[in-house]
Amino acid sequence: MLSQCLSRRSSNNNQNKTINGDFIMIFSIDVEDWPQSVLNRSNPVSDRVYRNTMQVLDILSEHKTTATFFTLTNVACKFPNLIQRMVTEGHEVASHGTTHGNIDAMTVKEVHQEIEVSVKTLEDLSGEKVIGYRAPNFSINESVFDYFCEALAHQGLRYDSSLFEIPVRKYNITKKYPLDTFKKFGLDEHYLTHVQIKGKDFPFFGGGYFRLFPYALTHYFREQYAQDAVFYMHPYEVDTGELAVIKKLYNDIPAKWLITQFIQRDSVAPKLGRLLQDFEFSSFQSRYYSPIAPLKNETNQPIVAMPSDPLITV
Ligand SMILES: [Zn+2]
Repeated sequence: MLSQCLSRRSSNNNQNKTINGDFIMIFSIDVEDWPQSVLNRSNPVSDRVYRNTMQVLDILSEHKTTATFFTLTNVACKFPNLIQRMVTEGHEVASHGTTHGNIDAMTVKEVHQEIEVSVKTLEDLSGEKVIGYRAPNFSINESVFDYFCEALAHQGLRYDSSLFEIPVRKYNITKKYPLDTFKKFGLDEHYLTHVQIKGKDFPFFGGGYFRLFPYALTHYFREQYAQDAVFYMHPYEVDTGELAVIKKLYNDIPAKWLITQFIQRDSVAPKLGRLLQDFEFSSFQSRYYSPIAPLKNETNQPIVAMPSDPLITV
């Protein structure tokens, strides 16, 4: 019901937005903690992911926009009230795995376990059916397609959004794979969006591209792109204080880290505000899938009791 209310408010609030025909953007967020998911997976999940995700939720709420949160299980378990807020505000809770391990480095059995644990945990915490998945580090490729898709289908998922439709050497993606590759498992593949600049392909709508380049470029490319598009980001990209903390822990920060992970994080929140003001967004679920019936336990009560705000109590 709340989701429907938000959708109506959003559509009534579009007079000043740039509408590309009937096309919109999907707002997707990979909810993970940078020190744990990127720096070292043996690190504990830090409180920063809680604050950062809350900030992104605040920005979305300000612009009456719903989004898809591909959430790591370790974050969801440590901060279940993040999941509660996502559900309450009409967002989609989807899976990003358990601890950010790469799918293409796992055995077949491990892939099935990874996806089962992740989906069931998120469903317990959210009380809603999880229907979407994004692999950590976009770590699926042709060699894992069959058992990866089988694992998603086995958990009742409806779609994946882990692939670019262009060759990306870093992710071992060699070409655009036909959608039938996934359809035969009953799955949709929602490719991440790319644009062409002088004949070359760039995955421009999100991540480092959105952070490093002027907002006008994202606006321009979005106006030119006459299809639905998928925008993606991480909560840590709005975290302007993390670099100082990391510098204390690691005296010598590689220049590559500074450029690919930290530079211009202070630009992200203002750019997000402009993007959400200028264009219409939705979650995958709201855009493409009919409302999903909430999961209920025997007493029709929420399965997990929500603790108080973990950052207020310390
Ligand atoms: Zn990730």
